[in-house]
Amino acid sequence: MGGAWQNWGRTEAVRPRLVERPATVEAVQRAVEAAARAGMRVKPVGAGHSFSGIAVAPDVLLVLDDLSDVAEVDRERRRVRLLAGTRLHQIPGLLAPFGLAMQNLGDVDRQSISGAISTGTHGTGARFGGIATQVVGATLVTASGDLLTVDETQNSELLPAVAPGLGALGVLVDLTLQCVPAFVLHAVEHPEPLADVLTSLDERAAKPDHFEFYWFPHTDIALTKTNTRLPGDYRAVCATGVAIPGIVPTFSRLAVKLTGNREYTDASTGVFVQNRNVRFKEMEYALPAENVRPAFEAMRALIDERGWKISFPVEVRFAAADDLWMSTAYGRESGYIAVHRYWREDHTEYFEAVEQIMLSFGGRPHWGKMHTLDASILRDRYPKFDDFTALRDRLDPDRRFQNDYLARVLGD
Ligand SMILES: Cc1cc2nc3c(=O)[nH]c(=O)nc-3n(C[C@H](O)[C@H](O)[C@H](O)COP(=O)(O)OP(=O)(O)OC[C@H]3O[C@@H](n4cnc5c(N)ncnc54)[C@H](O)[C@@H]3O)c2cc1C
Repeated sequence: MGGAWQNWGRTEAVRPRLVERPATVEAVQRAVEAAARAGMRVKPVGAGHSFSGIAVAPDVLLVLDDLSDVAEVDRERRRVRLLAGTRLHQIPGLLAPFGLAMQNLGDVDRQSISGAISTGTHGTGARFGGIATQVVGATLVTASGDLLTVDETQNSELLPAVAPGLGALGVLVDLTLQCVPAFVLHAVEHPEPLADVLTSLDERAAKPDHFEFYWFPHTDIALTKTNTRLPGDYRAVCATGVAIPGIVPTFSRLAVKLTGNREYTDASTGVFVQNRNVRFKEMEYALPAENVRPAFEAMRALIDERGWKISFPVEVRFAAADDLWMSTAYGRESGYIAVHRYWREDHTEYFEAVEQIMLSFGGRPHWGKMHTLDASILRDRYPKFDDFTALRDRLDPDRRFQNDYLARVLGD
């Protein structure tokens, strides 16, 4: 009998029948084979940072924390093979000796690399894809217990399907990422009138490397964050810091607290990643980039009209189009609108009403965040949906990796 499991957002909980902690690829294979013999389902879980039920493991929960490290580095091509349980916060330290970094990241780094790429975790930047676009190879244990290698030389036609794979195709045991030379980011954060931000949104999203904004409901203020990529590692930039005015904070810490004004330069991870100390629930929809402004304005009007008291900001980000079958940015330049609620508050009315607006603007829900859609609606929103479910039928005919969430969103 295993212990109880709950996700970070406290929106999902389960008591798995068995918790396994395989430390080798062979042990993962044995765990999948044993589950098959016992007629049980299997689910690897990362950091439990999904708000949706995607990681719920009622039968066998696989903890892959002991499968974490760099397995191989191709310095010439800047590619790194990581074991599947590696957490994002471990990766900068693992890449540093090779002068490499991940191209883009989301807001936090607690997730496992496998969990992050399985749900389509993304950051912001209209010229940059989500984290799954960095995947150039993967090895999975499929439902038969066999190893399946997917990369540019083996089963390359499956590369756009394995990430984001929603945990539906098998247990990832390693992932190869295309990295970039280590870089620093110059960050400018300040509050601005929301109207100004919306009027120039297309330009703001397109021009800088990474742009996002937070809007505080019931106010006319947006906190904008604009990050510019600079070559070189942090020490090198510090050495030339005199030449880069942004490296000197322009406001005192007190001013930051009071106004949100901040300008600084740091290693890429230090800028991308924030602390999230207050627990919340979240729903996020991807939209065609040109629909972000009208969808945002409709959502704002709704919040004003309904009189809800929303204490958490709305976050707006952007990403490049990609060709990954189950990516929220598949085939279209995308913008993301995320709504949050304090974890103890009832989110239902707010999220469902916002969801209807997002759907009317062509929205696709983040696989790891709360939403109410099922396969009947999602099929029309993903041109490669049937290809993905056909691949799942082939790799997992008995639904060894199924749970209620996957049955709902992929159908059965
Ligand atoms: C505070 C917070 C901040 C967040 N910020 C962002 C953000 O900035 N951008 C964004 O897009 N999302 C964000 N998210 C969502 C989060 O990145 C995703 O939900 C992500 O999937 C969580 O990773 P995890 O390791 O916790 O995976 P889990 O939630 O544990 O699992 C997610 C899925 O991955 C599967 N999985 C895990 N390991 C494997 C494996 N080895 N093989 C196959 N499948 C596997 C699981 O079975 C499950 O289906 C945030 C979430 C929180 C709580």
